[in-house]
Amino acid sequence: MLRALDELDLSSKCIEQGFPYEGYDYYTGNGQLLYGGNSPTIEGYPACNGISRRKLHQILLDAAIESGTTISMGTTVLSLEEKENSVLVELTNGYIGSYDLVIGSDGANSTMRKMLFGQHKNVYSELGVWRYTLPKPKDIVKGAFYYGENTKAGLIPMSEDEMYLLVTSHEPTTARFPEEQLHNILKQRIEEFGGIIAELSEQITNPFAVVYRPIYTSFLEGQWYKGRVLLIGDAAHTTSPHLGQGAAITIEDAVVLASILKQDLTLEESFEIFMKQRYERCKLVVENSDQLIEWELLGWKKSLPENVNVVKFIIDSLIELNKPIMNESLIG
Ligand SMILES: Cc1cc2nc3c(=O)[nH]c(=O)nc-3n(C[C@H](O)[C@H](O)[C@H](O)COP(=O)(O)OP(=O)(O)OC[C@H]3O[C@@H](n4cnc5c(N)ncnc54)[C@H](O)[C@@H]3O)c2cc1C
Repeated sequence: MLRALDELDLSSKCIEQGFPYEGYDYYTGNGQLLYGGNSPTIEGYPACNGISRRKLHQILLDAAIESGTTISMGTTVLSLEEKENSVLVELTNGYIGSYDLVIGSDGANSTMRKMLFGQHKNVYSELGVWRYTLPKPKDIVKGAFYYGENTKAGLIPMSEDEMYLLVTSHEPTTARFPEEQLHNILKQRIEEFGGIIAELSEQITNPFAVVYRPIYTSFLEGQWYKGRVLLIGDAAHTTSPHLGQGAAITIEDAVVLASILKQDLTLEESFEIFMKQRYERCKLVVENSDQLIEWELLGWKKSLPENVNVVKFIIDSLIELNKPIMNESLIG
């Protein structure tokens, strides 16, 4: 992600306000080290940079405002009407505007996707993800994952003082948990762990500070555009946190699109090049993350094939993603 943020001159701000680190240690649930190397790096960048969502959003929002972008909050698209050389957009606040290009970046449950392509089903993975922000002990300078018998726990640094506990667990349905019980349910999910995870469990006391999400994934096959309207981000490719790349490929989509639009091309040509640049890379993130979900569930059912090496698969995926974002031969 830092490489894409660099195109917007925002990577150093994100590093300053975040926590750069060298990668992850992978452990079994009882604390036996599986792999303690660093994550693959790109020259000039730290392998990883943890940052809170709030800080990242503020950095992006400030930059958007500084660039002169007009932002209208609390409204949404009511209708899109394709004209010969434009799209007429009507918003729920009564605003009507005519545009050369409309970008739908409205997330996993995209309304724009529905408007363009009709119903598209996100697939429930049977996995839930839990997060809880905690003070970071000074000696935690890397991320860590603990592969337990029934759940996975992880520690992700976000700043000098903060980290979050990440837990994935098998949740057969998407039924909502009682909000005031979320801390107790999270503690139950990690009760198999000893060591640092057990120590941290003591600090999980506020149910309203628990962030729980059922994991849905989806990939829009074929084109992500119709006429002059293009989908980017989760609207086109919703992935799980297993490779930590969902926001990264979303920001890449925007940066790559901007760079293509600077060329002297028709919109149709620009969209075709965009699809060539983005389709396989985003598909790899979604498919490899889906694979990790499948293996995680198989592991908990004690039926993971012996030849599966999860850590190697993660590292190989990251090496592949470290290749240049733009394939220059596909431009113009
Ligand atoms: C638990 C969890 C952990 C994650 N961890 C990571 C990670 O470590 N690293 C990483 O890179 N990614 C991670 N991701 C993925 C990342 O959050 C998403 O991939 C990313 O936010 C997608 O960005 P987006 O702009 O496409 O969609 P969103 O971030 O979902 O933004 C869509 C925006 O559109 C707005 N919107 C929606 N519908 C409408 C509408 N009809 N009209 C107007 N506005 C609308 C929403 O309010 C929202 O502001 C994680 C995701 C989850 C669920």
